[in-house]
Amino acid sequence: VFISFEGIDGAGKSTHIDTLAARLRSAGRDVVLTREPGGTALAERLRELVLHQPMDPLTESLLIFAARRDHLQQVIEPALAAGRVVLCDRFTDATFAYQGAGRGFDTAQLEQLERWVQQGRQPDLTFWFDLPPEVAAERLSGARVPDRFEQQPAEFFRRVNDGYRARAQTHPQRFIRLDASQQRDAVWADLEAALTRRGLL
Ligand code: C5P
Repeated sequence: VFISFEGIDGAGKSTHIDTLAARLRSAGRDVVLTREPGGTALAERLRELVLHQPMDPLTESLLIFAARRDHLQQVIEPALAAGRVVLCDRFTDATFAYQGAGRGFDTAQLEQLERWVQQGRQPDLTFWFDLPPEVAAERLSGARVPDRFEQQPAEFFRRVNDGYRARAQTHPQRFIRLDASQQRDAVWADLEAALTRRGLL
């Protein structure tokens, strides 16, 4: 099973991924916890470049898909073939949201790269932590040193969140929207209920 977690910065996905991994492991499931951009030594080096080095959106998209290709081949595909549960902090929907909706990169070109690199592989389930950008900004303020994306204005995150909404609409069978403005426990309860409904918990 391949589950991805998406949402703008500050939406709270990372803590829930950790909780879910622990929960699945205590139930005896073999869990691989990973992230994008990143997840392999090479992809983590590409992540460093993408997050800290200014570049044009095509270069950025190509580096992210190159990292994704390595991650799929080295980590995700072997884990799925072995029957493991893969929990991935961001995947391709983030590219459509950040590089596409956020930075204005052509969506049709991203779709081409998606087909080329993924050969039809998609997450079985995607949790989208939907949060108004103002709330996210408040939660993030002073939390840590921002990377070059986290320094973007609220308008950028509004576009990114709208980008996620558009992906949720075109991929309704795997997308589960979580209202991330709720208290943490309530978000977790919704996530747990969705997994239980699908027989995954
Ligand atoms: O989720 P995480 O904090 O690891 O993401 C790191 C940064 O990478 C975030 O600031 C996010 O905005 C950015 N990112 C991006 N494009 C992607 C994935 C992540 O700009 N496709």
